[in-house]
Amino acid sequence: MTPGCSSACQHENLNIALDHLHGVGPRMLPKLQKLGLNTIEDALYHLPVRYEDRRQFKKINRLTDNQQEVFLGTVLASGEAVTSRSRRRIYEVIVGDESGKISLKWFRYRKPWLQKRFPVGQQAIFIGEVKRFSAIREIHHPDSELIRSDQDINQLLTSDPLLFGRILPVYSLTEGLTQKQARKIWYQLIQEYARFAMTFIPPEVQQKYRLLPTTEALRLVHWPDDTLDLKDLNGGHDRARHSLVFDEFFYLELGLALKRAGVQLEEGIAFKFEHKFTIPLNKMLPFRLTEAQRRVLGEIKHDMMAPQPMHRLLQGDVGSGKTLVALMAALIAIENQAQVAVVAPTEILAEQHYQTFRSWLDKLGLKTGLLQGNMSVVAKRSLLEDIANGDIDLIVGTHAVLQEGVEFHTLGLGIVDEQHRFGVRQRSLLKHKGANPDILVMTATPIPRTLSMTLYGDLSVSIIDQLPPGRKPITTELFRSSHRHQAYQRIRQELEQGRQAYIVYPLVEESEKSDLQAATVAAETFTTEIFPDFKIGLLHGRMKTAEKDQVMNEFRLGKVQLLVSTTVIEVGVDVPNATVMMIEHADRFGLSQLHQLRGRVGRGAEKSYCLLIPSEHYSDDARRRLHVMVETEDGFRIAEADLDIRGPGDFLGTRQAGLPDLRVANLLKDQRILEQARQEAFAYVDKTNQLRTTDAEPVKRELIRRWGGRLELAAIG
Ligand code: ADP
Ligand code: MG
Repeated sequence: MTPGCSSACQHENLNIALDHLHGVGPRMLPKLQKLGLNTIEDALYHLPVRYEDRRQFKKINRLTDNQQEVFLGTVLASGEAVTSRSRRRIYEVIVGDESGKISLKWFRYRKPWLQKRFPVGQQAIFIGEVKRFSAIREIHHPDSELIRSDQDINQLLTSDPLLFGRILPVYSLTEGLTQKQARKIWYQLIQEYARFAMTFIPPEVQQKYRLLPTTEALRLVHWPDDTLDLKDLNGGHDRARHSLVFDEFFYLELGLALKRAGVQLEEGIAFKFEHKFTIPLNKMLPFRLTEAQRRVLGEIKHDMMAPQPMHRLLQGDVGSGKTLVALMAALIAIENQAQVAVVAPTEILAEQHYQTFRSWLDKLGLKTGLLQGNMSVVAKRSLLEDIANGDIDLIVGTHAVLQEGVEFHTLGLGIVDEQHRFGVRQRSLLKHKGANPDILVMTATPIPRTLSMTLYGDLSVSIIDQLPPGRKPITTELFRSSHRHQAYQRIRQELEQGRQAYIVYPLVEESEKSDLQAATVAAETFTTEIFPDFKIGLLHGRMKTAEKDQVMNEFRLGKVQLLVSTTVIEVGVDVPNATVMMIEHADRFGLSQLHQLRGRVGRGAEKSYCLLIPSEHYSDDARRRLHVMVETEDGFRIAEADLDIRGPGDFLGTRQAGLPDLRVANLLKDQRILEQARQEAFAYVDKTNQLRTTDAEPVKRELIRRWGGRLELAAIG
């Protein structure tokens, strides 16, 4: 440590290797590194996983089952025994106080050591999780602190703060690191280093939310005092953690606010409203737009009118009518003599969008094009020419639209379907196909608003939170593989009523062949054995586009009644007469994928069904996913459950979104704090002219330190 070090370099004291800490030597260091801790700072932000109450001892008859408890007792009996059921040797100590008794058991032990430690009459403090197996309660492998006969209990409570008389932290451990050692290390750590942690939140924000200075927050979160409540601590709602979470989110949002400001500084196209095509379309529609559709359309119009480029995320559950909103936006651009590009994640989806857009644009006398991967050279050349000279108003395609060689006359709007397959880089490519065109990204993955604003930091978010009227709920049922005939019955029932069905097989990268085979064989079986009286189609990723198109068209027209497919239908397919979907090996799909798939049914006026058939054996996580599917149709709840099961790191590719790692905060659990921090960060960026004022200097330095290179990388363009 540098004596007389200024506050700015003071923080650098935290960026040193952990073995500078007393008590951390060459033997301990690797154990801490296993926990991902390398520097003093890492360790300071490695928070306890929970807390243990050692302020007073409970009476034995007051101990709560399934809870970590601390109590004082006297050994009444001590010795080896054999369990009645498994005939295993165990060591058992019976401990009592004036209120009752409890049994302590060891399954792995050194007998002489236990015998010596727990003679009858020995007083000790015991710590462990209480279990109830029968009338008598048990603790397996408890911790203990012996009490010498001359020790006074009250004195003991105040004698050693590492052991008693307070709320103690419980840390996550690794092999060879005990809880006792961990407590000692972190106690030492905050004694020596917490004071170097600096508070980087602007004072006015700190006051407004009554945030603790970082030093104090770190001290308290590791070593809580009487001002903190045990329940709050264990729920993660205490002031100390709250302050650290706020700090983390504030800097996360600060970076996002800066990126957004950068986007807004660019010049884009200010569209005007001509209503030349939008009003006629409105008149042609067989239904009225939902209120939610009208609201988001208003938001999109507002952006399109503004001179800055639009960067908007349109989020709506499957079937909520995003495509229609996108169509309206497209017409606004076309009214302004600009072209529109629609980018879809797969060929099938591109085709589907092409059909939808073309059916409306044809009626308005506008030209739609489809750019396909396997077009003939001649057809492709002619299409590219039409795009380049502006003859085509709206072009649909996969990523192929973004390739070199595709030149637009005047690209005014890019519509991107299904964000989670589409990275920041692709959006940037699209942007450079024109002079800062507006960009509208559509996603069906519903995620909490603040979360999506954070994940897609540089995008504004519009949410369609309402389905068109008249949708019937989808009944989801889980069948054991051996009970699949029940699912077949349901399918037959629907087919006989003139409806259509999907049967879906998962596609796993490594074994694409065998899955393909599974789908092919299944299609055979269905044709010859199970549904010989219906027309069955097969769709998989290895088919040629023309073949796929043919099958899809036949299905759309109702000529094929049962479509057996690998996951190519995952997104966007829209056949309202399909009322039942059976998903094979449903355990292999992720939650949002299942939700997407299920959204292919329930699109018409009829009641629909989703039948889940998991593999014979599947994991607990898969079980949880399947149950969520059965329980709810609410995309919002599904997204939350998904986040909960998978954890936020994996969700939607946080890394792809270019965000810094979160050490303390939890994007899902701490959403309220995230909202507040977001508001304050955006206001602060405004107020300080994008951190250009003198007081904002330390904030800016800290921002750069935390975001590193990501600040530029994440920015679009
Ligand atoms: P998404 O793209 O959000 O999954 P779509 O735009 O494909 O949803 O719409 C799903 C279905 O609902 C389509 O058949 C569409 O024509 C229909 N639809 C869209 N908006 C409405 C509305 N306001 N009222 C009734 N039906 C609608
Ligand atoms: Mg859609």
